[in-house]
Amino acid sequence: MQLEIRNLSKTYSNGVHALKDVTLTIPQGMFGLLGPNGAGKSSLMRTIATLQEADSGSITLTDVGGADLNVLTQKDATRRLLGYLPQEFGVYPRVTAEAMLDHIATLKGIANGRERKELVSGLLQKVNLHTVRKKNLGTFSGGMKQRFGIAQALIGNPRLIIVDEPTAGLDPAERNRFHNLLAEIGENTVVILSTHIVEDVTNLCSDMAIICLGEVVAQGNPNDLVADL
Ligand code: ADP
Ligand code: ADP
Repeated sequence: MQLEIRNLSKTYSNGVHALKDVTLTIPQGMFGLLGPNGAGKSSLMRTIATLQEADSGSITLTDVGGADLNVLTQKDATRRLLGYLPQEFGVYPRVTAEAMLDHIATLKGIANGRERKELVSGLLQKVNLHTVRKKNLGTFSGGMKQRFGIAQALIGNPRLIIVDEPTAGLDPAERNRFHNLLAEIGENTVVILSTHIVEDVTNLCSDMAIICLGEVVAQGNPNDLVADL
């Protein structure tokens, strides 16, 4: 299964051409979208996540055999397939990690209380926050919040996870922990990692694209591409 992006363009009302005819194939595994600030990474991520619309172009999630699983312009269907961890996300400071995940699972339609409990407990283990499950989110460090965000994004077993500039403000140990978690998720999911940090892409990703001023300027194997930078 992979994501096919064809001729995607977006101009904001202030005249900024954030995406210019972007065409990309994003295969299973970890995909790095590398570019400087202002390149258009968030615009592309938000468009894939159906949080904003492009002016033209298409985004399709296909299985490896080529059969259409879904057309990403069908918002409701897409959102069920997708986990999105935005660059900055707020948390409710006086809600515990456990209660918040339980609430989100309810919103995502998991009605059975026992099923939710097992799911939430498994997710908290996975992101290594089970020991602080009864702590309020307001007490979490940056790294803990990021891992909480991943747990949140994983509810509902998404086929595609989008992570926008995840490691800003994390210390090296937290970054490592976060990277290991992403690599684990990438084993059976499409993971798109948007970042301006070259090493994050070369260390973690099997494929990548470089985006600059709204245009894809290169795409391929990280080690080949970065050698040319
Ligand atoms: P649109 O151009 O799609 O009509 P708006 O200009 O109304 O969107 O802005 C939508 C959101 O994006 C607002 O929250 C706004 O603060 C934010 N925004 C506006 N300009 C920029 C920018 N240059 N970079 C990042 N975010 C911006
Ligand atoms: P990146 O994530 O690579 O930093 P963005 O997609 O945030 O890039 O921004 C690409 C360009 O579009 C920038 O020039 C930015 O200022 C502009 N931009 C982003 N969001 C908006 C918005 N909502 N309204 C107007 N301009 C925006």
